[in-house]
Amino acid sequence: DKKLGLAIDLDTCVGCQACVTACKGWNDQGYGVPLSDQDPYGAKPSGTFLNRVHTYQAETPEGMGVTVNFPRSCLHCEDAPCVTVCPTGASYKRAEDGIVLVNEDICIGCGLCAWACPYGAREMDQAAGVMKKCTLCVDRIYNENLPEEDRVPACVRTCPTGARHFGDFADPDSSVSRLTADRGGYALMPDMGTRPVNRYLPPRPKDAPDQASPLAPL
Ligand code: SF4
Ligand code: SF4
Ligand code: SF4
Repeated sequence: DKKLGLAIDLDTCVGCQACVTACKGWNDQGYGVPLSDQDPYGAKPSGTFLNRVHTYQAETPEGMGVTVNFPRSCLHCEDAPCVTVCPTGASYKRAEDGIVLVNEDICIGCGLCAWACPYGAREMDQAAGVMKKCTLCVDRIYNENLPEEDRVPACVRTCPTGARHFGDFADPDSSVSRLTADRGGYALMPDMGTRPVNRYLPPRPKDAPDQASPLAPL
């Protein structure tokens, strides 16, 4: 069976939010606040995000300021607590490819799964009364009406820096498996015991700043 997921490169993510916007667009999710009468996304009632990117300012041990961009969405855990707690069976993990989904027809909007997810990856659609989460764009990746290059999640297709990689972690020759092996890709919060499929590729060491440069730290 496949183990589909994302390898997200923290070295090349620039925090542009293009993946967030593409996710909203493909998954027909609004921003909750219309920017204008013509705003196609803001006019939609749901303000849920299936993918967020957080940006932080931090400091290295050497005193250099750094910007950290951290994309966050469902990690399609192998031992998914959101599935275990769901009282109706609406949350489930597919055997054939490992994607964790919500059956909106039987979701009662109780919110237990959002409490159980240690990554904050689920958000309640208040208008529809059902839980939303990343589906890995399951309606794109097997969609034979789309050209081959579009059969990836919308965030992956859109990312201008190529920071988001999609593939099968069960296949050791896939691009995501090779990137993870080469770059030391890691699982988020492994002590939670959820065994996430998604991996993060850590930032690579940067060149030392040129002391002659006017941009060098004082
Ligand atoms: Fe469930 Fe959260 Fe894991 Fe996704 S990241 S499978 S929502 S526990
Ligand atoms: Fe299950 Fe829906 Fe409740 Fe989540 S909100 S635990 S998917 S019934
Ligand atoms: Fe980062 Fe790519 Fe998303 Fe931009 S589109 S925030 S570079 S992951």
